[in-house]
Amino acid sequence: MVCADIIIDISHGNLDKSFQYLVPEWMQEQIRPGMVVTVPFGKGNCLRKGYVIGLGTQTDYDPHKLKEIQGLASGEETTESRLIELAAWMRERYGSTMIQALKTVLPIREKVKSKEKRYICLNTDRTAAEALLQKLRGGRAKARARFLEALLEKGTMEYSEAAEYGAGKAVLDFFEKEEIIRIRYEEITRTAVTQALTAPGDRCALTDEQRQAADAAAREWKKEKPRPVLLYGVTGSGKTQVYMELIDQVLQEGKQAIVLIPEIALTYQTVRRFYGRFGDRVSILNSRMSQGERYDQFKMAKKGAVQVMVGPRSALFTPFPRLGLIIVDEEHEPTYKSENSPRFHAVETAVRRAEMEGAGVLLGSATPSVETFFKVRSGEYAMVRLTGRYGESRLPEVSVVDLREELKAGNRSVLSRELKRDMESRLQKKEQVMLFLNRRGYAGFVSCRSCGEVIKCPHCDVSLSEHNNGKLICHYCGYEVRKPEVCPVCGSPYIGGFKAGTQQVEQVIRKNFPGVRVLRMDYDTTRKKGSYEKILSAFARQEADILVGTQMIVKGHDFPMVTLVGVLAADLSLNAGDYHSAERTFQLLTQAVGRAGRGVREGKAVIQTYHPEHYSIQTAACQDYEAFYEEEMAYREMMDYPPSSHMLAVLGACTEESLLKEAMEYVERFVRRIYPGEDLHVIGPAPASIGKMKDVYKRVLYLKHREYSLLVSVRERLERYIEVNSGFRKIYIQYDFS
Ligand code: ADP
Ligand code: ZN
Ligand code: ZN
Repeated sequence: MVCADIIIDISHGNLDKSFQYLVPEWMQEQIRPGMVVTVPFGKGNCLRKGYVIGLGTQTDYDPHKLKEIQGLASGEETTESRLIELAAWMRERYGSTMIQALKTVLPIREKVKSKEKRYICLNTDRTAAEALLQKLRGGRAKARARFLEALLEKGTMEYSEAAEYGAGKAVLDFFEKEEIIRIRYEEITRTAVTQALTAPGDRCALTDEQRQAADAAAREWKKEKPRPVLLYGVTGSGKTQVYMELIDQVLQEGKQAIVLIPEIALTYQTVRRFYGRFGDRVSILNSRMSQGERYDQFKMAKKGAVQVMVGPRSALFTPFPRLGLIIVDEEHEPTYKSENSPRFHAVETAVRRAEMEGAGVLLGSATPSVETFFKVRSGEYAMVRLTGRYGESRLPEVSVVDLREELKAGNRSVLSRELKRDMESRLQKKEQVMLFLNRRGYAGFVSCRSCGEVIKCPHCDVSLSEHNNGKLICHYCGYEVRKPEVCPVCGSPYIGGFKAGTQQVEQVIRKNFPGVRVLRMDYDTTRKKGSYEKILSAFARQEADILVGTQMIVKGHDFPMVTLVGVLAADLSLNAGDYHSAERTFQLLTQAVGRAGRGVREGKAVIQTYHPEHYSIQTAACQDYEAFYEEEMAYREMMDYPPSSHMLAVLGACTEESLLKEAMEYVERFVRRIYPGEDLHVIGPAPASIGKMKDVYKRVLYLKHREYSLLVSVRERLERYIEVNSGFRKIYIQYDFS
């Protein structure tokens, strides 16, 4: 027996409400999630169309009472069909419920919250609306005319205001159906942005190298078996120019394009470039939007009112009718991995969606992720390159400062002597300085300031994290030791955690350089809406000499007057306690270095570290990605970390610590029992890197294996085991593949 879960009306967002039907035998070979089928529905069994969202062999009902699917509505594949198919793939690949997967991919309009105001705005150009107004004035539809006149005057109005002009629901429905107006659920920035943007068409001739890159990518997608293309180009080489050229080609074919950018890069500058080139054919998503706003954006995309969607991870699911291209900018960014179930990776999912839609995929980066470059090497992805920066600007000179030497020379400040000297000379010349304290993934490692030794897990080769109880813990395998009093290598008492924050750095600067204007950008100073932009634009207008900040400051922005970039402690990300540390460090350093010397003046970067010999620092200093990749792959292969092997994290969360501990031990024993032997590597369970959050405890068990499919089947069996086992009732389990 095969039965199917079917949703009858997708537009109302009743995703939780599916109905089970029997699949007749003749259909069993063809049917798959996303297909449109006809089914008898309700008391009268009238025929309705529905979407298949899942297939199975079990039912909670009496199988004799299930109705049978009538037929396949072949040729009625819609955008939703393909998105549902994508959701089914995500469910299987990343592990989640089908409902969670559907809610991730389908634009669902949730019920309007009472505090959500509704607005009416014009949905056509003014001349068309004015012409209609002329016509209405002559006729008898007085309310229509009065309302339209007022709207033309105001641009937008609150929904409730329409009544003042005698326009009730019928009038508004009429205008909405005629696509003269649009109802929005919040006043959003789109109009504000377009009005403020009078930027001239950002359309410059491509350089020869850019032209070749664009042509090569376009050629790849015309092949019979098109591959995703990695656009590998140093910062400032003009990747965005290549994106825009390729988008242009897609639009000319009558297709649409999605551009994913990391949330943090979603700044005015980026948005302005795309608007400048494509005008109001572009729309923007961001994560601050409400469900309603996002739904509005998706609706416009579906109707064809916009052709290019720019946004973070979730923009990937824009329901364009004819998707031609997906671009993932800064494809190496960890924010492309979702933290919610399904924990999908946007790059992989983009590749899958493009495959289903027959669209091209372009992944852009100056520091491609190890996973992506691995696929380039194996031939799964194609690659095109941009080797030079655009125009005059050159990559800066890089100097690596050994902090151990500073301590030896009696300097215990966060600024090394070299960095301080360089700052003095730049400030004298009225040039600008950026200081970067790279706290991403900072997990409280312990190191020796005399010899640089970092206390590591003997089993996992990642640094141990310091906990309040004076213990050091490995977040992979759970290994624990007491924090040593002196360095186990050199015996120095200068051993401890790294505590400096951006605020302390700011104080140090003010003390060392009295009168210098300093701006600070970190989590504290950017909490208010718009403050991020405000700080950056003040710095761009040279209202400050020094900008101090976390990784936020290394993204995207061009500051031609910045000639010196200082990385205060490269080790913070190097010892973050997970297997990505070296990769993240290389990426951050490369980006930071790329900030210096964007203008005609020569730039310099100073990297301060206790590990000047580490390959991620050495290779970043000479901007040699491929050398970094070789070293990093050797490490991943030796330790069986992805992409050399695959990893599944089983994450458990619970408010009761002892219960969670016991449950995770059951998980471990179950996994060991169903897959005995050396092949499947079981590590942990251990406390998660944030072991407790808002009184919820978290533990994690890692499984490693060369075959992804084996991990998928472990997950499926584990899911069933947990479902029937009452001991897990209070435990929330998530799966995370890498
Ligand atoms: P990337 O995205 O690779 O970091 P950008 O696309 O931001 O590089 O380009 C860096 C700078 O060079 C930008 O200011 C951009 O306007 C300029 N630029 C790049 N290519 C061209 C071109 N072909 N013509 C004019 N300006 C260009
Ligand atoms: Zn030491
Ligand atoms: Zn360990």
